[in-house]
Amino acid sequence: TPAMAQEQVLNIYSARHYPSDELMYGAFSKATGIQIKRVDADDAGILARLKAEGAASPADVILLVDASRLWRGQVDGLFMPIKSPLLEQAIPAHLRAQPDPNGGTAWFGLSTRARVVVFDKLKYKKSDFDSYEKLADPKFKGQLCIRSGSHPYNLSLFGAMTEHMGAAQTEAWLKGLVGNMARSPKGGDTDQIKGVASGECGMAVTNSYYLARLMRSTQAADVAVTEKIGVVFPNQSSWGTHMNVAGGAVAKHAKHSANAVKFLEYLASPAAQNHFANGNNEWPAAQGVRFDNPALQAMTGGSFKSELLPISAVGQNQTKVQQMLDRVGFK
Ligand code: FE
Repeated sequence: TPAMAQEQVLNIYSARHYPSDELMYGAFSKATGIQIKRVDADDAGILARLKAEGAASPADVILLVDASRLWRGQVDGLFMPIKSPLLEQAIPAHLRAQPDPNGGTAWFGLSTRARVVVFDKLKYKKSDFDSYEKLADPKFKGQLCIRSGSHPYNLSLFGAMTEHMGAAQTEAWLKGLVGNMARSPKGGDTDQIKGVASGECGMAVTNSYYLARLMRSTQAADVAVTEKIGVVFPNQSSWGTHMNVAGGAVAKHAKHSANAVKFLEYLASPAAQNHFANGNNEWPAAQGVRFDNPALQAMTGGSFKSELLPISAVGQNQTKVQQMLDRVGFK
């Protein structure tokens, strides 16, 4: 049978840049006897590599850290849509690809992260930033730190804003963000948080897990950074805080597709979902998983309203958003 012919090997191309994931891979190998070989690159690098390798690609599982890139991999035909009752039951419909026209699902979100606002507690209060729209208010001129507009995390946030507000209003908002920048975009999300703590900016945009990582750090300097800032989960009284996903797919030309599905199902299991929550400070994508993370608890007070937009929709706005960014001069 094909199952018997399949060697106990799994080739993963991963954009998850989180060292704590090692434990999870080890646990899977131990439980199944399947040996994992991993190639690390960023989302764009992985998609380019899959295209270049074509049918000769050794990749079985693809792990990416952004909804727009997952969508891109799907429309470029780089994934093998799969049928997994277990994944379909565990992962809510808005956190996975729309059903493939030929059956199956091209990718599944496996963990979620909120794109939040942090601010200088001495200068501002939570209500100053209780919506993303307020970041563009001219009264915050010279206060905003944010990474490059073209980074997938921002493309996805701006793609979601386009769904909520329409293109014209989103472009005006982006223009307002550019007008409020404290400096030209540089660095990653952690650098934006540190920019607030150092006083270079009054407000910044970051993924939630970078902040949680600083909160849970054993370095006094990291903890000192978090003590200077407040955090807001925006749009609680409207569409909810923007959530992005990290997710997985089976590669189009996977040679070990049964192992690949098994691995994705493992990632949706309560044990692995707990790992995402505790090891990397993300929220489980699977429904009904209990977890205990003091930083996430402290940040949210226990619960918050998250955006319920079908996450597959943000990818479709990518090109439009990039054109807006070019027009308003958002580097
Ligand atoms: Fe990240």
